[in-house]
Amino acid sequence: MRDPRLAGDGRVVLGDGTVHETDLVVGAVGDIPNTEWLASTGPVSNEVVPVDDRGPVRPEIAAAGDPAAFPTASGVRRIPLWNSVIEQAKVAATVLLRGPATPSPDFRTEQFGLTLQVAGHLQVTGPPGYVDGAPGGPVLLRRAGTDVAAAPNYRIPAPRLRGVGLGVA
Ligand SMILES: Cc1cc2nc3c(=O)[nH]c(=O)nc-3n(C[C@H](O)[C@H](O)[C@H](O)COP(=O)(O)OP(=O)(O)OC[C@H]3O[C@@H](n4cnc5c(N)ncnc54)[C@H](O)[C@@H]3O)c2cc1C
Repeated sequence: MRDPRLAGDGRVVLGDGTVHETDLVVGAVGDIPNTEWLASTGPVSNEVVPVDDRGPVRPEIAAAGDPAAFPTASGVRRIPLWNSVIEQAKVAATVLLRGPATPSPDFRTEQFGLTLQVAGHLQVTGPPGYVDGAPGGPVLLRRAGTDVAAAPNYRIPAPRLRGVGLGVA
């Protein structure tokens, strides 16, 4: 919900006027890709730039970065994170110059003391399985039936994490 307002008396007023009483508010910031400047050029659809899984919008034009939405194992997705954006750019450039390549969805981020590494096409539903560690500490997680592995505060080389996601490490 956009434009929530803290009323200061334990109430949160959402943009549509709904009021919630609460002791705790957890904020989360989303992102909207800036595609307005591309509006008249054709490749924008629903505020994203649909590409195939290798970057090209058309044979001679590629898109990479936050606005690019490409087919993944979890459907058509944007992956607005540094590692993926750099991978997308490398793949798109390689495809334009040399032909087929595929971007990696893996990423690493640090937020409020938490270091998070993820391999695979992230899904946000369903419980993960613990490969190593226990709740509250550094853990290595895997979602069965997907290619996803996650390592919150858990040190593991990226290629090995990818192997865990694929069930081969
Ligand atoms: C607050 C915040 C925290 C983040 N933290 C993380 C994190 O911890 N880990 C992580 O992986 N990702 C993080 N991200 C996401 C990451 O920053 C983006 O996914 C990434 O920067 C997107 O790269 P991009 O090249 O698509 O766009 P950008 O990095 O936004 O680059 C676009 C560039 O194009 C320029 N530009 C725009 N319009 C024009 C124009 N008309 N002509 C010429 N130039 C133009 C802009 O000035 C900008 O320099 C964070 C993002 C935000 C906002």
